[in-house]
Amino acid sequence: MVTQPVSFSIAGRLPIGGGHPVLVQTMCNTSTDDIAASLAQCRAMAAAGADLIRLTTQGLRQVESLRQIKEQLRAEGILTPLVADIHFLADAALAAASVADKVRINPGNFAKEHEVACVKFRELMALCKQHGTAIRIGLNHGSLGERITQRYGATPLAMKEAVMEWLRMCVKEDFFQVVVSLKASNTLVMVEAYRLLYAAMRDELGYLFPLHLGVTEAGNGDEGRIKSAVGIGTLLGEGIGDTIRVSLTEDPVHEIPAGRQIVAAIAEGYSPKGGRSVVEASDWNDFIIKASCLWGPSLLDKKIDDFSLEGSTIGGAPVSEADGARFRDLLLQACRRRFTRPEYIACPGCGRTLYDLESTFNEVKRRTAHLAGVKIAVMGCVVNGPGEMADADYGYVGEGRGHVTLYRGRTPVLRYIPQEEAIDKLLELIEGDR
Ligand code: SF4
Repeated sequence: MVTQPVSFSIAGRLPIGGGHPVLVQTMCNTSTDDIAASLAQCRAMAAAGADLIRLTTQGLRQVESLRQIKEQLRAEGILTPLVADIHFLADAALAAASVADKVRINPGNFAKEHEVACVKFRELMALCKQHGTAIRIGLNHGSLGERITQRYGATPLAMKEAVMEWLRMCVKEDFFQVVVSLKASNTLVMVEAYRLLYAAMRDELGYLFPLHLGVTEAGNGDEGRIKSAVGIGTLLGEGIGDTIRVSLTEDPVHEIPAGRQIVAAIAEGYSPKGGRSVVEASDWNDFIIKASCLWGPSLLDKKIDDFSLEGSTIGGAPVSEADGARFRDLLLQACRRRFTRPEYIACPGCGRTLYDLESTFNEVKRRTAHLAGVKIAVMGCVVNGPGEMADADYGYVGEGRGHVTLYRGRTPVLRYIPQEEAIDKLLELIEGDR
């Protein structure tokens, strides 16, 4: 079989796939209906160099808000393509096809019955063809449908199989403006899913659709950057991936420099086959990203058990013993080799977020820092949060109106409690189980 790389231009001006430079994207965490706030964030993201900007588009009202945001940005000369983030409402996707430059969907969520979802997906392809709009089929580990998990479990294989179904339909309908993502918060699952999909597209489908890489719910700070650099860097180092998003529970503008640093690190040879053996970094963030791209893949694949920082420098000075030890712990945990601290799963927040996620997450981290090995999820909304918490032991999920539901695994155990009490209750719950 001759395999063809699929390449196209988003919004007629931004080439993707087929060896074009890797695009770095981000997503607004504003309510899309708050047009002034969304515009301000889009301007900041464009100024920071975002190649693509995604906005939450739950329904038809948000499609209209997106239209107004796009018109204003274009009037200001900001041409960054905009992506409508749809999850459940197929009609919102159909309406967004004539407004957004790209529509992100999970077709498995379009309808309960698979046949209905297929009909809606075909309709969407026809509309996108008409308007020159691209589609991202964005499937997450936490949002696999029962139809697939009953057959394959919640595995990387299931993620690959689920996407291949939709891609076969794209080929059949002669629709090639498609990008695919298969994100997970677990770096092993994420890397394996993309590797399987890449091989299946090459060997079974005959078309290499562009891939959007990301570690979802990566958290914030050093942990978020290291986890993302391990997952994204491993694949980019293998020549897999066309666009990336580093999801951080921080100001989303920070995602752009972090993404650029990963792309640059790979280009500078910081990968297992890149020829480097020590890290020469300008500052701490540069160091953790380069070092994660260099040693993360071999740790993840269990080809090495440890690494040496001898000879590596930050700003020309050797890495201090304390910094080196802290980084070693973080990298080994991000590669799922040794758990020395709690494992946090936190969504980046979006237009669906129902509380101050960033400060709450930092407070949860501060109060639970002693719980090594416990997996704690902090999620912004009840619509996607519980599904996306993946394999968390405990979950803190925003319900809106100042209330939170706490989960043990996937089971809600304390429903709709006031937010002021929620962290205390979370600690009581965890401590009570120990
Ligand atoms: S869990 Fe909810 S709030 Fe968080 S990113 Fe996903 S949709 Fe947005």
